[in-house]
Amino acid sequence: MSIKPGKRRLGIMGGTFDPIHLGHLVAAEEAYHSFNLDKVLFIPAARPPHKNLENVTNISNRLQMVELATAANSHFEVLDIETKRQGPSYTVDTIRELSNEYNGTTEFFFITGEDAILQIMNWRDPEVLLQLTNFIAVSRYGRPAGEHDHFMAQLPENVRKKVHPLEIPLIGVSSTDIRERIAKGRSIRYLVPDVVEVYIREKSLYLYI
Ligand code: ATP
Ligand code: MG
Repeated sequence: MSIKPGKRRLGIMGGTFDPIHLGHLVAAEEAYHSFNLDKVLFIPAARPPHKNLENVTNISNRLQMVELATAANSHFEVLDIETKRQGPSYTVDTIRELSNEYNGTTEFFFITGEDAILQIMNWRDPEVLLQLTNFIAVSRYGRPAGEHDHFMAQLPENVRKKVHPLEIPLIGVSSTDIRERIAKGRSIRYLVPDVVEVYIREKSLYLYI
C-alpha cells in the first residue's frame, strides 16, 4: 500500500449498528492501529438502502448507542451526517460529502467486513466510490483464519486494487444475533459494551423481533 506523505488518514466505519457490538469496535480499533489512521469516524446509516426500514430501530436510538460505545476511545468519533440527508443513505454520498469538506487533504479508509465488500458492485455508483476511498476489509467469523487470499480472489480487479484485507480476532457476533438473543431472553453481556446493554434495557429495545 502506498502512503501519501502529508495526508491525513481517516477511517470510516459505516453500518446500521442495530445495535453496535464488539465486532464493530474490534474492527475499527484494529484498522486504526494497523493502517496508522489518525482517527475513525463511526457513521450510522440513517436509512440503510438494503434493509427493510420497518425492522430497523430509529436512528436516534442507534446513534445514541454508537455514542455510548465509542465515548471512552479518544480516536473514535461519531458523525451524524447521514441523518441530515433525505432518502436512502448511500455510502457514495457520504464519502463525496466528506471529500468535499476535506478537499484533498485527507485519504479515506472505509472499514467493512469481507461480507459487505463482496457486495460492493451492487452499491450505488461503485466506480465513483472506488475512486474516492480505499477499503479495509476485515475478516469475519465463518471462514478459516489467515485465508484472505481466497477472499481477495473473489473481487473484480478494479475493486481489488482499492481493498486492503485485514485479519482481526474473529468475533462470532452480529447485530442480528444480539437482537435474537434479547428476544429470547439470553444474555448479551460481553458481546456489547456494558453502557450499550444498559441503554437497550432502559429503552426496552429488541424485546420482540
Ligand atoms: P446485521 O446482522 O443487522 O446485518 P451486522 O452485525 O452485520 O448487523 P452492520 O451494522 O450490518 O452489523 O455492519 C457494519 C459493518 O461491520 C459491516 O461492514 C460488517 O461487515 C461489519 N461487521 C459486523 N459484525 C462484525 C464482526 N463480528 N466482525 C467484523 N466485522 C463486522
Ligand atoms: Mg450486516
